[in-house]
Amino acid sequence: MGKNKPNPYSDDTYEKAAANLRLALSILGEHRLPSSPINYRLAYDLIDGRSRSLNTEFKTILSSDSDDMNEDLWALYRRFYVQDEEALELIRAELQGIVSGVVNECGSASGDLLGYSDRLNSLADLVCSDADSELTLVAVRDAIKDTRQVAVSQQKLGCQLAEVLKEVREIHKAIDEVREESHVDPLTGVSNRRAFDLALASLIDKSVEHNEPLSLLLCDIDSFKQFNDDYGHLVGDKVLQFVAKQLKNSIKGRDFVCRFGGEEFAIILPHTPLKNGLIVADQLRLSISKSRLKRANSDEVYGNVTLSFGVAELAADETRNDLIERADRALYKAKHNGRNRVEASVAGE
Ligand code: GH3
Ligand code: MG
Ligand code: MG
Repeated sequence: MGKNKPNPYSDDTYEKAAANLRLALSILGEHRLPSSPINYRLAYDLIDGRSRSLNTEFKTILSSDSDDMNEDLWALYRRFYVQDEEALELIRAELQGIVSGVVNECGSASGDLLGYSDRLNSLADLVCSDADSELTLVAVRDAIKDTRQVAVSQQKLGCQLAEVLKEVREIHKAIDEVREESHVDPLTGVSNRRAFDLALASLIDKSVEHNEPLSLLLCDIDSFKQFNDDYGHLVGDKVLQFVAKQLKNSIKGRDFVCRFGGEEFAIILPHTPLKNGLIVADQLRLSISKSRLKRANSDEVYGNVTLSFGVAELAADETRNDLIERADRALYKAKHNGRNRVEASVAGE
């Protein structure tokens, strides 16, 4: 079971995992919870914002101050991690059951029809022959009875097929939802890294095919560790949601924004040369830096949230990873040169 499941932590860098470790231990410490592998994994995923519903339930348990918090967390763990796999296994078995049910029904229905058509053929022979008319009448009555039976079983089969179709449609919907979820970052609601990789590959192909420019923006929240330390990671989560929303609302329909990881976001701008990519990045930077974030139901204003940007335009024959690496180097330059700024990468630099 779960043999082909991808490692959910494969994208986590050393730095991110170390930062999560620190925050996870501080949450567990704060609630005097043992850092058992189970509690630690839950806390790690809470910080990472992997599942909105897990976060909500975890926070409810933490704020409940129940005596059985450990047991509550174990139940949560079983539900989110263990039952997930059990549920998938159940769907698989259910689908298999439905398909074999349909195959059996169709098999027996086609058997019924074969027998019925044999009987009709014999009746036709009888009617065409000079057989006794009494005998023919009995045979016709039997044929009418048979026809009614076939009609009833066809109707039953029709109903069963309609039922099966409904179930299959529901399963398809559930699968679509899971697929959709697997492309969305649960904390911020924007696309995740997996969706980004797919989108970038396809947009690069299109850009090469139509000989159109494409720019990539990587941005990273400045001094976010300090922000978390000052206001707590739950406020930090809100900031991530705010930044994601700002980015999403400021880009055009054909552009693509994703949470690249931790406090980093990536934006793909098709049909956009470096010069325009830099303008877009600076507008985003400026509008977010001007925002004032306030604590809910109070006038307390949090410290400024600023972002640094690295921008690169796709060069001829460049791979996806090379482009990402250049945008990342430009981002590093923006951090190095003082943060809250935009730097460009020039191909071949
Ligand atoms: P820099 O300006 O150089 O980017 O500094 P920084 O502090 O932002 O960078 P650093 O890599 O040192 O720390 C990143 C911080 O982002 C630490 C980590 O806890 C925080 N972070 C990453 N993901 C999340 C998250 O999902 N929620 C919260 N609240 N914090 C997160
Ligand atoms: Mg970072
Ligand atoms: Mg940062």
